Amino acid sequence: MLQIKNLHANINGKEILKGINLTVKPGEIHAIMGPNGSGKSTLASVLVGNPAFEVTEGEITFNGKDIMELSPEDRSREGMFLSFQYPVEIPGVSMVNFMRAALNEHRKYNGLEPVSASDFLKLMREKRAVVEMDTKLSNRSVNEGFSGGEKKRNEIFQMAMLDPKLAILDETDSGLDIDALRIVANGVNQLKTPHNAAIVITHYQRLLEYIKPDVVHVLYKGRIVKTAGPELALELEEKGYDWIKKEMGDE
Ligand code: ADP
Ligand code: MG
Ligand code: MG
Repeated sequence: MLQIKNLHANINGKEILKGINLTVKPGEIHAIMGPNGSGKSTLASVLVGNPAFEVTEGEITFNGKDIMELSPEDRSREGMFLSFQYPVEIPGVSMVNFMRAALNEHRKYNGLEPVSASDFLKLMREKRAVVEMDTKLSNRSVNEGFSGGEKKRNEIFQMAMLDPKLAILDETDSGLDIDALRIVANGVNQLKTPHNAAIVITHYQRLLEYIKPDVVHVLYKGRIVKTAGPELALELEEKGYDWIKKEMGDE
């Protein structure tokens, strides 16, 4: 589904990603962990086409397509979804209208007719249930005056509505209480089919108790320095990141 080869990326002329290789297959959940500043958010931004970053080398293919020249919008329409660490507010645009527009954009790109009113309402109901969101929230403007937990819930709701092929969550768990964490995890877990995949970026193991990753990677100084099964997350939880730094000859 996703293949990243020798990816290098800069911001303001400084190299942040220094040769990332990563393959994600349909049905898999990958966790990316690593100390602060190692390039995790940069990787997520580059994947979805954030223009602030300059790719200097490497390849990204998604569903067999080279996506390097695609706009962020088209990457989204191709089925990528990024959950940001800090969701934006869109005053004056109701959640309902926002979601219908987004969904229809995606459908149009993929050669489908706009969703019917009844199907849309049914989908809204179904996905609201996943994130335990009441109708009051979905009738308000997007994220306007939402609490931190409500914004996260809303993002996961948007993700569930759009049903992306690849969901990328960048530290969606930071600052969440247990209830919110469980809701985020529900959202990701209900996406899980043999045809979808997720990349869960997290500093802590906590979220991975709810979302079971198939593969865990450690990103350090712009490179993936370790790849293993879920036991790696537990090891990191127990020992922190210092041993990784030591192994890399940095301490
Ligand atoms: P992580 O998500 O793993 O904490 P980031 O990808 O956010 O790491 O950051 C990686 C490195 O890139 C850090 O050294 C950070 O200071 C730098 N960086 C990130 N964004 C910018 C920016 N807009 N301008 C300059 N440096 C940046
Ligand atoms: Mg960070
Ligand atoms: Mg980050």
